[in-house]
Amino acid sequence: MNSSDIRDSFLKYFESRGHRILPSSPLVPQNDPTLLFTNAGMVQFKDIFTGKEKTELRRATTSQKCMRAGGKHNDLENVGHTARHHTFFEMLGNFSFGDYFKKDAIAFAWEYLTEVLRLDKERLYVTIYKDDEEAFRLWQEIAKIKSDRIYRMGEKDNFWAMGDTGPCGPCSEIIYDQGKDVGCKRPECSVGCDCDRFLEIWNLVFMQYERDSSGNMRPLPRPSIDTGMGLERLAAVLQKRLSNFDTDVFAEIIDTASSIARVQYHKDERTDASLRVIADHARAAAFLISDGILPSNEGRGYVLRRIIRRAIRHGHLLGIKETFFYKVCDSVIAKMGNHYNELVRGKELIDKATRYEEERFRETLEKGLSILQEEFERLKTQNISTINGETVFRLYDTYGFPVDLTSIIARENGFEIDAIGFEREMERQRERSEWKGSGENEIGHIYKELKNRGIKSLFTGYENTEESSQVEAIIVDGRLVEELEAGRVAEIVLNKTPFYGESGGQVGDTGTLESQNLLFRVEQTKKVEDIIIHKGVLQIGHIRLKEQIYAKLDTARRDRIRAAHSATHLLHLVLRRTLGSHVKQAGSLVEPDRLRFDFSHFEQIPFETLERIEEEVNRLILANLKSEVAVRDVKEAIESGAMALFGEKYGEKVRVVKMGDSLELCGGTHVRSTGEIGYFYITKESAIASGVRRIEAVCGLNAVNLIFEKRRIVRSLERLLNTNQEMLEQSVRLMNEKISKLEEKIQNYEERMFSYSLDNIISNSTNIDDYRILVSEVSASDVPDLRRKMDIIRERSKDLIILLFARINEKISIVMSVPKDMTNKIDASLIVREVSKSIGGTGGGRKDMAQGGGTDLSKIDTIKDTAIKALNDIIHK
Ligand SMILES: [Zn+2]
Ligand SMILES: [Zn+2]
Repeated sequence: MNSSDIRDSFLKYFESRGHRILPSSPLVPQNDPTLLFTNAGMVQFKDIFTGKEKTELRRATTSQKCMRAGGKHNDLENVGHTARHHTFFEMLGNFSFGDYFKKDAIAFAWEYLTEVLRLDKERLYVTIYKDDEEAFRLWQEIAKIKSDRIYRMGEKDNFWAMGDTGPCGPCSEIIYDQGKDVGCKRPECSVGCDCDRFLEIWNLVFMQYERDSSGNMRPLPRPSIDTGMGLERLAAVLQKRLSNFDTDVFAEIIDTASSIARVQYHKDERTDASLRVIADHARAAAFLISDGILPSNEGRGYVLRRIIRRAIRHGHLLGIKETFFYKVCDSVIAKMGNHYNELVRGKELIDKATRYEEERFRETLEKGLSILQEEFERLKTQNISTINGETVFRLYDTYGFPVDLTSIIARENGFEIDAIGFEREMERQRERSEWKGSGENEIGHIYKELKNRGIKSLFTGYENTEESSQVEAIIVDGRLVEELEAGRVAEIVLNKTPFYGESGGQVGDTGTLESQNLLFRVEQTKKVEDIIIHKGVLQIGHIRLKEQIYAKLDTARRDRIRAAHSATHLLHLVLRRTLGSHVKQAGSLVEPDRLRFDFSHFEQIPFETLERIEEEVNRLILANLKSEVAVRDVKEAIESGAMALFGEKYGEKVRVVKMGDSLELCGGTHVRSTGEIGYFYITKESAIASGVRRIEAVCGLNAVNLIFEKRRIVRSLERLLNTNQEMLEQSVRLMNEKISKLEEKIQNYEERMFSYSLDNIISNSTNIDDYRILVSEVSASDVPDLRRKMDIIRERSKDLIILLFARINEKISIVMSVPKDMTNKIDASLIVREVSKSIGGTGGGRKDMAQGGGTDLSKIDTIKDTAIKALNDIIHK
């Protein structure tokens, strides 16, 4: 059975036992800002298990994408060197939310393993929590397992808890015996041995208690089930392979890597390890990118960068010279895209992002490696075994070597790194490399309370701009009140409202809440889950709880927001058409007549292309395409090609906004037809992160005003240059030519003047012993001019030691030349440095030619004396 058959059979089995098959949640957890990556099947159900989320769902089954890398589970270093460490893996699981419990969980697991997969019962063992007599009895009754094959384990192994408080309970693991020829081969080897013979394949968690903050456990009224079985490990068991890497899961991927590297797998342990690292990391990279993560220097993006760079370094070890990693990622898409469709949709982005990252890293990889190699040699001769923090930091900062990569390479060569020294160096940059948590914002305590009271706001603003509503909550300074008086700032929650709460990048509406004797001005509207909050000031009257009021939008402002939001959809479509389908929305901000759109793309967009994009968006506006909105099934919508945001978990029903060929899942407000956008004008294109570009644009009257502004500038220039628009460029060009001709003339003139006075200047030279020395102030427009003047003197008088200085831009500049045959005695750079120092500056250069300067203009009259004295000292030394 290959891995995708196993996955199917698992999901189908549990579906036939009343479970709903749910898609894997994204690798970026949606409801847990403390978690770096989704690392187990239960993560997406956390709120259900804790009771925070109410659901009709009773049973579910998933094959969950998981990542363990970075943070607490940092297995990165082991990956490739063991049979079962992975950064990315799939976890099969079945879940009961207060429905069935231990008995069925055990029966399902046993039936699936022995009846569906037909695993040999004689090879199966189980472990239970030491005090779980119920599980002990059930395993014997249901699975007919003899008591001597049931092992009791302690808290550490077989008791699970979600956190310090919350749901917890005993677990039970099913163990598969790979046979006595595997593992340590000691006669006493048994379940629990450190070796690889007895494999834990499935963990059943029986959530039956709730632990409070003082550590007391009370039974949950409706206990739940959470199970997890690693797909890669199960495949190894079924395919009778001792390593997960030898199963079909990795076969094609390793093949791809080995044919690029022209090395055979299973020939040499060193190259095998590199192939395994590359294969594992390609899976992680492809899945992370398809969930919207791009390589960067912080947080999740940095984990991805470390993974990709480690893989590339192993490619380098295998002697691969060309950019290769994207090809391995391609084979991941080919292998797994069928089940995980996001890989196929993200193919072009995965391709571009990994290629770009590899090209950048390869620029510095060799140099960094050779620095390390030199360091190894140097330390060996000095008998030192630790690489200092500065070197590690330099590799990190300048050559893009993640510190764990440097550490691994060091260890391979018998060295350690000075981690503390590195940390010290990192101190200043700590801010940006640290993960501060992301994902969902912490919900204010007060809104949670409203939610628990069942308060919701119905949004009616897709159709209406006014609404007769009832006041459901009044919040002042974070506290609920019954009544509000005029002059106070407050947050008002209504049962229904046309006000759009800020979300999905679209700013919230403004407007008024009013009745015959009150007026509340809404300055800001935000959305917290199902609650829409109107923040503002009560200007007239009182507001009381449960009062009927009238909610009225600022419709003109809303119209301008709608125009900008619809314009982002058109821009998105045109960008994908023009630049390629790797373009994905990474963020947006929609304000009245103004927008900002961030997207994945790896190079600057040329001006001409930007103009084409702008023109194409305007073409779609002029076509006055009707905007159509439909509520559809999420799966069907995405399959029909609607653009979904990366890594976003959508509900089952989604709103799909269509304008011509633009099709997006979107909850925002839009124009009725694209003509309402009026005009679209790009104001700026820039990079905001590695691989992410930003376009800023304006539309509607805002764009028109911008054009006015440009026209005003043109008119003012016309007046200043006394010409007309058509001749403007020509006029400026002519003017520039005239200026440079004049400059040239002036320079010639000045040089000629200088030559005339040369004899006079040179006659001021002094003699020290046999040396003729000229120290003189001259006038010069800039440093090159000063140097030119020195050259002219030198031409005339080849045996002269010359030091010239001049006031240039409120500073003193110094140049000096020494005839070549005198440089054994006189070093120009030393003299210049000393003179510069005396006027508060620095200088340097070669022995025959040096340059310097300072800012202390008050010392300009002392320069000559300082220089002569310095020369005197050197000559008479
Ligand atoms: Zn053993
Ligand atoms: Zn939208």
